[in-house]
This record gives sequence, C-alpha cells and structure tokens, in this order.
Amino acid sequence: MAKENDLLASVSDTSTDSEFFSPVPEGYKKGRTRYIFVLGTVISGLGKGIFSSCLAKLMQDKGLKVAPIKLEGYLNIDSGTLNPFRHGEVFVLDDGMECDMDLGTYERMLNKKLSRDNFVTSGQVFKSVLYKERHGDYLGRDVQMIPHVTGEVKLKLRNLAMKTKADIVFIEIGGTVGDLENAYYIEAMRQLAYEEGPNSCCFVALTYILEPETLGEQKSKAAQLGIKQLMQCGIQPHIIACRATNPVNEKARQKISIYSSVPMERVLSLPDSASVYMIPSMLRDANLDFQVLKLLKIEDRINLRNERKEWAKWCDFTDKIEADRKKITIGITGKYTSVRDSYASIINALEHAGIALGADIDIKWVPTGEINAENVSENLADVDGIIVPGGFGTRGAEGKIQCTKYARENNLPFLGLCFGFQMAVIEFARNVCGLKDANTTEINGDCKEPVIGILPEQKKIEGLGGNMRLGGRDIKLKQDTIAWELFGKAETVRMRFRHRYEVDPIYIETLEKGGLVFSGKAPEHPIMQILELPDHPFFIGTQAHPCLTSRPLSPQPMFVGLVASAMKKRYPEKKLPGPVDAVKKV
Ligand code: GLN
Repeated sequence: MAKENDLLASVSDTSTDSEFFSPVPEGYKKGRTRYIFVLGTVISGLGKGIFSSCLAKLMQDKGLKVAPIKLEGYLNIDSGTLNPFRHGEVFVLDDGMECDMDLGTYERMLNKKLSRDNFVTSGQVFKSVLYKERHGDYLGRDVQMIPHVTGEVKLKLRNLAMKTKADIVFIEIGGTVGDLENAYYIEAMRQLAYEEGPNSCCFVALTYILEPETLGEQKSKAAQLGIKQLMQCGIQPHIIACRATNPVNEKARQKISIYSSVPMERVLSLPDSASVYMIPSMLRDANLDFQVLKLLKIEDRINLRNERKEWAKWCDFTDKIEADRKKITIGITGKYTSVRDSYASIINALEHAGIALGADIDIKWVPTGEINAENVSENLADVDGIIVPGGFGTRGAEGKIQCTKYARENNLPFLGLCFGFQMAVIEFARNVCGLKDANTTEINGDCKEPVIGILPEQKKIEGLGGNMRLGGRDIKLKQDTIAWELFGKAETVRMRFRHRYEVDPIYIETLEKGGLVFSGKAPEHPIMQILELPDHPFFIGTQAHPCLTSRPLSPQPMFVGLVASAMKKRYPEKKLPGPVDAVKKV
C-alpha cells in the first residue's frame, strides 16, 4: 500500500514548474473518494444527467455519500445569460448560482440541495487560471492547457470531494466526446484516473444505437465510432450505456462489447422510458449498482438496511406512477412553448403533484404571443387550470394578462410564477382597481401606473450577468390565508428567486383594498412574494419559482394546490380533496 501511495505521489506535484503539476487541496486523502465520469458519444441530449443522477441515487440509497458535478464546455461564467430556447431552463440553486437544468435533475433525484461547487463552466476554469496568472502564482512558467488548465479542473473535483466528504463524486461532462470545448476536461479526467490509481475511477460512456425506419434494424456503427473516439483520448470505458428508442438487442450489444473490450454485463440497454423516475429500477435490474461497487472496490462501505428502506419508499412512489390516474389538462402560457426544456422544472413539479394526487396531467401549450381578448376563451376552454410562468420582456405579456383575466373571471385554477405573479398584479390593478394604465416598467418605462417597478437594490447595477435578486429567501406567511394553509400553517417558508422587478410598495394599499391578499412577504422588506384571491377556487401567484424545489416524494404545495383544484373542477362528482386537504394528505 505504502508503495502504491508513493507511486501516486510521484505523478502529482504542487509545484507549478513541474510537468506533474496537479494542485491538491490541503488534507486531501487519495483513495477516500472514488470518481465516476459520465460522458456522451454520438449525439448530445442522451440524458447523461438523468443517467448519472439515477446511478447516484442508487448509491446514496446504499448509505454512500454522493456529490454530483456538471462540467460545461461553454465560456459563460454561469447559465444566467443563456436563452432557455437554446439551452433549456436556467436552474437556480439556493445559494443563487444560475446553472444548467441538469442540476435540477440531480436535486430532484437525490432529494438534496446543491451549491455552486456542483457546477463548473469553462468560463469559471479559465477565469481562475487567468486570475492566478495575474496574481503571479505561475511565475516564470508559460501557462499551458496541460498541466495548468487540466490541473485547475482536477482541483475543482478534488475540492468537491474534500468539502462533501463524498464516497463517490459523479462527474458529468457536457456535450459529446470530440467537441473541442470539452476535450481538456476529458484529458483532466484521464490524468485524474492515473493519479488516483487503479479502482479509483469508473468511466461510463453513453452512446446511441440508431434504428433507421427504412432498415428496421438496430445499427451500432455510429456508437462504435463514438467509443473509438473516446478510446483515442486514452480512456477505456468500464460501462457502456446504449440509449435507443427500443431495447437494444443482443447482437448490437455484442458488437459494442467486442469493439470496446467492455464485458457484456456492462453493456446496458437503456431504451426510452415514459418517466425518468422509472430509470433507477432499470439500472438496478441490470445490476449496474453492484457492478460499479465492485469496480470501485467499495462494497464494504454500503448499508443494505438503509437501501431496503429507501427503495421501499421509492417503489411506493413509482407504483403510483403506474397506477390508473385521472386525466386533467393544465395550460402553460408562455413564450418558449415550443421547447419543453425551457419549462423543465414546471413540468416536473406538475408531475410530482399529479402522481401524489392520482392525476395524469396533459400539458396544453398556449403561445401567448397569439392570445388576445377575442380568442382567449376558445384557447382556454378545454383546460382545467393554468400556469402563467416566468419570463422577461414584452413579447407575449399582453397575452399572459388576458389569460390571467380569463382565469380570474371564470373561476379557472390559476398559478402565476414570477413574471406570472407580476402579470396577475397588473391585471388586477387594471381591471379591478381601475388603474387602466397599470404596467411593469420592464415593459413600459413611462406608464402612468407602474405597479411593478425595479427593485431598489437593482437600480445601481450595471450589466446583466449574475446580478438579479437570486437564490433562496425566506417568505413570511400571513396567517389564515390559503398559502398559510397550503404550507401546513408554517410561519415562514423558503423559495428560490430570480427577478429584478417587484410590486411597487406604494400600490400595496390600493391593491389590498380591491381585494387582493398578499399572503407572503419578505421578512424585512416590503417585497410582496405571494398573492391570492380569497373568493376564487384557486388563484395564487408567487414572485418566487416554487417549481425549483419540488421533489418527487415531496411535491411543492402550490403545485399540489393547483392540481387538486383542477381535479375538482374536472371531476366535480368525485369526492376529492380540496387544495389544502390535498397538501395535508401528501
Ligand atoms: N422579468 C421579471 C423580473 O425580472 C420576471 C423574472 C422571471 O420571471 N424570472 O422581475
């Protein structure tokens, strides 16, 4: 053992001058943490994050400490400035980090709060290398991709391992093998595996098996080439997960196996699944969890009793997915309605609430750019409830206001999120309080009644990166309101935020006189966080993004309330719990 440690020590060095340069956090103990790398080949969008989070869940169930990390190739410092249409939704962590939607997958699957340590972009890596260069940390040396940039990547991974005391760090590399952007991440991984020594790292390659309709059979060539490309980077995969529309046949798996020297029991068939929450059991059925434990030689660390308990809970949940559920339709009114990924957390939160209440939810996308006073009723006639989601800018805003008005006047269950909350305030101000010119200064800076205006703390900020009111904040609930009941009569609740505008405090009195109830406020400032209409079956809005904290086994109460109300509307003859009872039941 001592000899092996010496060998490991000999290939990593903290001197910036050495070709073995590999900074290691102080107190780091090699061998304590194992690393699982998840890479994609052939195409992107294979579900690396889903795969990685499901495998991590199986390990966590076994009592192991897991820490996921996503490495993004792009040069942005975070995902905050990315268009959700191009890149999927921006997921906000409790500490305010704006990151990739995969972090949401990890939080939901692991039922765990993550932090900025779990998200890395090339922008962050280079920023810190360049900072160190200016600071004189590499004095006398030309700063190179290898060993300095790769060293920075390894440092981030080991820092996470140290900080979380993880048994396993799960590393997901964005993009596919062969991209210029992530090549240095892959190189850093190869080095890390070398430095950490045998049985410390496990490489998983996700690949795609084509099945062209004209041929009617599965073709593995593209997958073989993708894996070959990975092997050319000096990485021998231990596990190959074959994604495909249908179960991957024996012949295709054999080809992959012989081509890549990965034994058949580690070449998995991973066909499309109706729900991501069924994937942990697919991996379990393939015995992948135990294969990984064996590869990493950590079988002795697991707690099978814990696993039995956790797995029983999970199966109760997945049984409900497969149960006969009642159909309802929820409309989502928004700008990015053509891309489901832009609303990933909302879709997930609806799914969680639906599963808990026995509702099978169809989503109707309502493109608000085309909605006006004349056509709103025909567009919303067949929905049982609506969500007006977050958004920025002018496009579609008037359509959202029309949808909100329709929901208010027609007793249609309504949930407004962030921008949707602001639209509800504007609609109420215009049509109930008689402030005809009410608007947000985000849309019309010169409007006569700016009921929504910029937050005072935002006024002095310049530029657009990472400087909104971001992250988790406490909300003080008002007693005897729907929100208070929904949250189990809690005094305060915590939700996540991402906004620049708020209800202008000078309008609060007018709005309240009109009958709007602000049932949640920021504890120390007059920032309105939740609104509701007491005489409506379910009309509630929040300045926060409650979808970000909904979890499969603990659905978010506002979503539960919406779905329960929608169920009641659709099936009035059935004895179903009201929104508040529904949450209590959950
Ligand atoms: N554009 C609004 C604001 O900045 C709402 C933001 C959002 O919906 N995330 O306040």
